[in-house]
Amino acid sequence: MRIEINKKRYRDYDSYMKEKVNKKIIKLPLDGGFTCPNRDGTISKEGCIFCSESGSGEWTFGKKSIREQISHQKARLSKEGRPEAYLGYFQNFTNTYGDLSRLRKLYYEALTDDDIIGLAIATRADCLSDQVLDLLEEINDKYFLIVELGMQSVNDRTLALINRGYDHVTFDSGLKKLKARGIKVLVHMIVGLPFEGYDDYIKTISYINEAAPWGIKIHNLYVEENSKLEKFYQENKLTYGMDMDEYVKIVIEILRKLRPEIVINRLTGDGINDKIAFPIWSKNKAKILTSIDKIMKDKNYRQGDLWKEE
Ligand code: SF4
Repeated sequence: MRIEINKKRYRDYDSYMKEKVNKKIIKLPLDGGFTCPNRDGTISKEGCIFCSESGSGEWTFGKKSIREQISHQKARLSKEGRPEAYLGYFQNFTNTYGDLSRLRKLYYEALTDDDIIGLAIATRADCLSDQVLDLLEEINDKYFLIVELGMQSVNDRTLALINRGYDHVTFDSGLKKLKARGIKVLVHMIVGLPFEGYDDYIKTISYINEAAPWGIKIHNLYVEENSKLEKFYQENKLTYGMDMDEYVKIVIEILRKLRPEIVINRLTGDGINDKIAFPIWSKNKAKILTSIDKIMKDKNYRQGDLWKEE
């Protein structure tokens, strides 16, 4: 029996995976005990301006063994009676930054169970040595692999402001290295970064269309309490101007201009609601998604209906 597929007007991850394996594929967030060169002092100690204490891994389960984390996350995320399989999701900090033998051990430990069909590995585009790429290619040959890269913007002025720690040319080179080895790349983009506007988003989308990664995650910027980003807003007397309607409008515009085959993995921020200082509307992810779906359906919009090959 075929599992029911979402009827979105964009190519959503859930449907993509169900079509592929006829199961609900759940990502199990894992903490591999990594750090990040942008946090350990190699590049800086400050980190990206939006990075949380947990290294942008809000849904991981502490520094337990990989086996314990997998059991915990399966129990938390599974639903009785649903055909399911899983991806081990190395989510927080930089999950290709470390000793190669340690990376190999962690990745394969996460792949032990038969119902884990592959991995999603979040990292930085400047942390992809040839040896790491060899290991990723080896895993990609045997399992389903996604490598997630935090791009956020193509605008180098913005990248300096958010302290990402490397420029767009370096990002592009990392993405191309992964693609050359046939590895699926999932690019993160943030809408609402300080001093960015519509033209910046369109520039970022033009790059994504040209680079043609496997997938994209679009996040709205959200500001956590007591974060560096909150301090930045206070010190610069900035206000967060974008309301939910505007965000929804921008996301729809982005979807319409995006290559139709790019897989949409997220359309909202992924923060923990209790920690979000503002915007309050970003706590209601379901409302954001429903609004996007409704407008696209009412107006008969689809992903890529404004995209043209350049
Ligand atoms: S690259 Fe990731 S882990 Fe490192 S500082 Fe930036 S958001 Fe945090």
